[in-house]
Amino acid sequence: MDMLALLLPARCGACRRRGSGFCLDCAATLAPECFSLTGTPPLEVVALGRYEGPLRLAVLAMKRGRRDVAQTLGRCLADVVGHVDGAIAAAPTAAHRRGTRGFDQALLLARALGGASVSLCLEGASQRGAGRAERLARRVRFSGGDVAGRRVLVVDDVCSTGGTLLACARALREAGALAVEAAVLARAERSPR
Ligand SMILES: [Zn+2]
Repeated sequence: MDMLALLLPARCGACRRRGSGFCLDCAATLAPECFSLTGTPPLEVVALGRYEGPLRLAVLAMKRGRRDVAQTLGRCLADVVGHVDGAIAAAPTAAHRRGTRGFDQALLLARALGGASVSLCLEGASQRGAGRAERLARRVRFSGGDVAGRRVLVVDDVCSTGGTLLACARALREAGALAVEAAVLARAERSPR
């Protein structure tokens, strides 16, 4: 996959135009928004836009394994979020998904936001018979950093119910994080397909 990417010119993950993983015309359709997830306390989330149109197509291309699309979307998100004062945490991706895709898209996005300064990664335990959010709340592991006393930005691809982000935020606060916010590529009205 990576060898092919080197040999072939990149095509936009949404409109397939040659150039980059997400072309300027498609990027121009983005309508970034902030919203807050109901929780105690509420969680503020920044998104590149709604899970529809070119953004949805690009996210789907990313989920099918387009690492270059993930990197371009990550740079778009970094532009919207701006300077991050604190730690950046990638929301956990199920191991089997990471396996088929060949990379962890949340971690890749987190790196785009934080450059080399990514200091934290959340890992969910793979337990069957429970929802993703529930599994996370039960057992979240941190790697690569201490969150105590720090502000943390949690990064994920798509936010639908917000259950995963809220579970991450809860786990981070329990670990002593000062404040938790979130950034996602897209906000979906219902579970993304
Ligand atoms: Zn395009």
